[in-house]
Amino acid sequence: MSNESIQKKNSSITRRLYGMLQWKLFFAFFFTDLLAEVCVIGGYLYYQIVNSLGSPRLLDSVTLEGTLKSTLFLVLTDQSGTAHAVDATLPARLLRDGTLGLLAIQGICLLFSLCFDYFRVKGRLRPLSQLAANAEELSRMSFDEARFQQLESAISQVSPEAPDAHVQTNDPELQGIETALNSLLSQMREAYRQQGRFVSDASHELRTPIAVIKGYIDILDRWGKEDPQVLSESITAIKNETNHMNRLVEQLLFLARSDSGRNPLHTERFSLSQMAEEVYEESRMIDEAHVYELLREPADILACGDPTMLKQALRILIDNAAKYTNPGDTITLRVGMSRNYQPCLSVQDNGSGIQSQDVSHIFERFYRSDQARNSETGGTGLGLSIAKWIIDRHKGTIEVVSRPEIGTRFTIRLQSSL
Ligand code: ADP
Repeated sequence: MSNESIQKKNSSITRRLYGMLQWKLFFAFFFTDLLAEVCVIGGYLYYQIVNSLGSPRLLDSVTLEGTLKSTLFLVLTDQSGTAHAVDATLPARLLRDGTLGLLAIQGICLLFSLCFDYFRVKGRLRPLSQLAANAEELSRMSFDEARFQQLESAISQVSPEAPDAHVQTNDPELQGIETALNSLLSQMREAYRQQGRFVSDASHELRTPIAVIKGYIDILDRWGKEDPQVLSESITAIKNETNHMNRLVEQLLFLARSDSGRNPLHTERFSLSQMAEEVYEESRMIDEAHVYELLREPADILACGDPTMLKQALRILIDNAAKYTNPGDTITLRVGMSRNYQPCLSVQDNGSGIQSQDVSHIFERFYRSDQARNSETGGTGLGLSIAKWIIDRHKGTIEVVSRPEIGTRFTIRLQSSL
């Protein structure tokens, strides 16, 4: 159907609706007038009959005598033949004038409706007409086989490994699909790159302890079997490296599970104060080299989240504080409520602090400051990225304030559990 014929059809529907509206108005006026006249005349007649004869049952006949111009009488004859004449000139004139006035008003209304309703109906039907035109447009769009083939061949030519390869059809009508596909491709490449980097970083980190273990085994093999000092030194070193590797593999597994969505949260409402106290007690027991301090608000702080995971994040922060703080120094653990009612935890130390250029990277996987790498702390560079993943999953925030040689404070804020 062409646009012209859609328009013709719309105009005819508009005209029909308009005609129906006019007739409806006309009949509404007509029946209202009729009802009003019947009520007024009937009421007046009843009133005069009761007034003159006492009861409508005594009435025999009703006639009108005279004219409206001079005088008009209403003659009521009862069953005994007595006639009662009532002067009805004024009511009849009032009725006539009232009716004429009403008809004039209704006539004007009809006139207005005749003049303007056509455009009103047309306006109301415009969205429908638009819809019909769009549907027509859509139905006219034919399936363009050649274009789809062009797109298909453009996609098949793209190699996911090539860093700058992208879909190109040179067809302006396929521009939208082309852009969406290219953006998807670059997202996939980024994920691929990240995965590759993760695997190579992980292998690199694992290579060092393996090399150390192998070195000590070689020493033992050559000279150490009979030398108790070399033997003991080698066993200690191998033990340390094995522990380090063990921790690294556990953390790698955690991150791999997180990336593939296999680390679900088991959320519940729990006491954050109690959890902080447990971590505080266990840290005091494990690490006697530092002084631990717990500052908690008197009220029990409640939070919503996975207590096991949050405990893990808190342990990572405490572990770091212990790693980068001199023996004998104090590590302070705080638990409380922020000003906007967010349950929060903080771990503060007065250890080595973090250089400003490192602060923005410490949550990245495998990132370790040069200072940390050169020290004997034995970290993996994965702890803070795990803590951040846990806090992000809880829709909370983790914030760090640090000054070299003064100390570091990490603060976790969780979502309000009110
Ligand atoms: P690591 O196993 O090396 O500690 P993390 O991911 O836990 O790995 O920490 C990343 C880096 O952040 C550390 O190597 C260290 O440089 C720095 N860092 C973290 N916590 C502290 C802290 N409390 N004091 C000083 N530096 C810290």
